[in-house]
Amino acid sequence: MAYDPNNIFARILRGEIPCNRVHETEHALAFHDIHPQAPVHVLVIPKGAYVSWDDFSAHASDAEIAGFVRAVGEVARLVGVDADGYRLLANHGANSHQDVPHLHVHVTGGRPLGPLLL
Ligand code: IMP
Repeated sequence: MAYDPNNIFARILRGEIPCNRVHETEHALAFHDIHPQAPVHVLVIPKGAYVSWDDFSAHASDAEIAGFVRAVGEVARLVGVDADGYRLLANHGANSHQDVPHLHVHVTGGRPLGPLLL
């Protein structure tokens, strides 16, 4: 899938739309999900224009990949879910019901989340 430069997360990255920011690094931005599904629900996105994990892993530099992965872990610590546990989830493409075509990892926690139901 070609990257749509006007997707909502691209617009957040350009500062055209506000977000409730949790963390920002050279390679990643994290902000609270606008419709939280758990007491903690943060989205972490790479700053580069990548649609999916397969796109990102194929085309991002090692520095971008390392920076993004580190940022996800930093967010878990920053929002305080590292002690009690949390879930990482990323949707890719139509079968997963990905709504926003810019790679994002959901970080959820703050309560027992139950088993992951497919
Ligand atoms: P997806 O279904 O994995 O693509 O998840 C997209 C997520 O983005 C959903 O959980 C939405 O609630 C969230 N979302 C959409 N627009 C915004 C926004 O402007 N700010 C923060 N979160 C958003």
